[in-house]
Amino acid sequence: MKIAILSRNRKLYSTHRLIEAAEKRGHEVRVVDILRCYMNIASNKPMVYYKGEALEGFDAVIPRIGASVTFYGAAVLRQFEMMGVYPVNESVALTRSRDKLRSLQLLSRKGIGLPVTGFANKPDDVKEVIKLVGGAPVVIKLLEGTQGIGVVLAETQKAAESVMEGFMGLKANILVQEFIKEAGGADIRCFVVGGKVVAAMKRQGAEGEFRSNLHRGGSASLIRLTPEERSTAVKSAQAMGLNVAGVDLLRANHGPVVMEVNSSPGLEGIEAASGKDVADLIIQFIENQAKPGKTATKGKG
Ligand code: ADP
Ligand code: MG
Repeated sequence: MKIAILSRNRKLYSTHRLIEAAEKRGHEVRVVDILRCYMNIASNKPMVYYKGEALEGFDAVIPRIGASVTFYGAAVLRQFEMMGVYPVNESVALTRSRDKLRSLQLLSRKGIGLPVTGFANKPDDVKEVIKLVGGAPVVIKLLEGTQGIGVVLAETQKAAESVMEGFMGLKANILVQEFIKEAGGADIRCFVVGGKVVAAMKRQGAEGEFRSNLHRGGSASLIRLTPEERSTAVKSAQAMGLNVAGVDLLRANHGPVVMEVNSSPGLEGIEAASGKDVADLIIQFIENQAKPGKTATKGKG
């Protein structure tokens, strides 16, 4: 097969591992920097161009689109879909997953366990919405934050109100969430490929840090999932329409709750912690699934 990886840099660990795994299985791989792609939106023959060359003949495309380039990245991916190239994750699913509020709404519709979450637009409603999620301590998040940046723990009602008012004053979209204290600064990353959890790890935040992100100094270790955690992760990926997903859970007293579903989950931490060749599993999945024009939406919506 001929596979395109949409990534800004071939030296990134995950990109590099996907190239390696695909070549090992005999495929031809091309890394395409999305920001250097341009397109003609013609109705009979949609195309993607790259530095003067038409990108043609691909069987599958693997999006590895960073959060800061979601808009343009999704447009390039959608264009590949319209050309009939099989996307490992579809553009619609990708944009869904990049908005934390939209994701939580979709997950709640499927009855998946979530931290109680509130959303408000006006500072006048801040007090009420904090009450709605059970009062302080609460976690306040930017809707489009990533790597733990823009996630704040407010320990008191007063702190919560002023942080929320501050974000609102900056016109930032935020949500407020029940603080799952019993998680103890740890979360669980479940790596889902094709409706199965293929690897999982526990991430523990650094001393005194409630955020477990590896980018914030967290450390990863192997973990055994309960059947409930496993099925929650699979259902979450499915609700988002993602074939490849990193589903992040917290162990709450009343069972697993989903914090977010990542559509370009990193391979470095999970491969090191689990000892699994996750890149190879993704390529195998593509081998089994890729057919011309086989997308749920073909770039629609
Ligand atoms: P990001 O997209 O920036 O990673 P997350 O929503 O995943 O944002 O939050 C970052 C980290 O903060 C999580 O990995 C988790 O450790 C911690 N965290 C987030 N929400 C909660 C919560 N409601 N209760 C307890 N810890 C939380
Ligand atoms: Mg996270």
